[in-house]
Amino acid sequence: GVEGAMVLLLDDKEEVLRPEASRGGWDEEATSATFRSDHPLCRQLWMRRTSLARGDFDEEGDPEIREACRDVFDTLDAELLVPMLFGFDLLGVISVGRKLSGDRLGVDERQLLRTLSNQSSIAIENARAYDEIAKLNETLEGRVEGRTRELRDTQAQLVQSEKMRSLGQLVAGVAHELNNPIGFVHANLQLLDEYVEKLMRPGLDPESRERVRDAIGKLLNRSREGTERVKQIVEDLRTFSRTDQAELQEVCVNDEIDRTLVLVEPRLKDGIQVVREYGQVSPVRCFAGQLNQVFMNLLMNACDALEGKGQVMIRTRPLEDGVRVEIEDDGPGMTPEVKTRIFDPFFTTKDVGKGTGLGLSISHGIVERHGGSMWVESEPNRGTTFVIELPRQAPLEEAQ
Ligand code: ADP
Repeated sequence: GVEGAMVLLLDDKEEVLRPEASRGGWDEEATSATFRSDHPLCRQLWMRRTSLARGDFDEEGDPEIREACRDVFDTLDAELLVPMLFGFDLLGVISVGRKLSGDRLGVDERQLLRTLSNQSSIAIENARAYDEIAKLNETLEGRVEGRTRELRDTQAQLVQSEKMRSLGQLVAGVAHELNNPIGFVHANLQLLDEYVEKLMRPGLDPESRERVRDAIGKLLNRSREGTERVKQIVEDLRTFSRTDQAELQEVCVNDEIDRTLVLVEPRLKDGIQVVREYGQVSPVRCFAGQLNQVFMNLLMNACDALEGKGQVMIRTRPLEDGVRVEIEDDGPGMTPEVKTRIFDPFFTTKDVGKGTGLGLSISHGIVERHGGSMWVESEPNRGTTFVIELPRQAPLEEAQ
């Protein structure tokens, strides 16, 4: 029942109060009016914290304040200005025009306006908080995305470094294995040199000549064995990594474990004894290179756990439709806490630079992609057994 009403809100950034919504007949001067937040009227509303009418300034001692405040009532053509307060802050003002009936606004109506302004303040503050949260969410999403990207990159780098580590171990194993046969072939060549020289010497009696010929024959035979061994190792290496064969193939896990053992050999020397209990297993269809990576990880972990002394027991046995492999060590075992986390990517108890914590999570992934399962049985001081069960047939081409 009033001529008009208007809501003016404080713009925090520009620090001005300006009309945001209006009803009724306001003139242009009113709807485009702005007041600075330090305008005397704003201060009065903020300090007195109640609605004010023009008459409330009659007793204002400071004529400057009185006039400035009265001006606002004139500009807005308002009978009553109701502050919108939230906590300590002034959010805005509801400006109310004269009643159509010509009466003054009564106490009840003023009370109603106070309630309305209180609820509006809460609603406005909520809406602003909501906006702010939405904005924060947006930046947060951006940041989460960025962090996720960074993490993915780091993970890729770590997977790469884990691969490099296995490759490093592999290379060390191969170098060691090649060194022996090459070493004695090299020594034999030197001897051969001497014998050939002897053979060419004039005046050598037939008996000695025969002896030297014999010796040369033996040397050549043994050298041939050496180069055969080198050939075999290179062949093993190619079948081990099978980088040239990315398809599913039928393999016997016993052979694959043996191939892996050749490469782990240098780490097993001396104090670590390997016992093999192989069962009559049927071939499994798998990505053999990947499977060997799993055996390699488990054997290397067993060596790390044994710290140069102990026993590794490797058992295989047929299952109804697949094979079971157990790799057991009599090392220190694991606490239940460690046991629950070993398949988590990046979980490691090894020193920085020694462990990446990826070996088992990668191995677990490989076994799962082959449709198999892998788990561990371990207790402190009771050793550790890794069990792998593989179906006869990997279910998919995606195991890669
Ligand atoms: P990493 O070898 O780089 O630490 P893994 O994923 O291969 O990563 O192993 C994770 C952790 O599991 C190891 O740090 C170790 O604590 C534990 N673990 C693995 N194998 C054995 C084992 N045979 N005996 C005791 N603990 C083991």
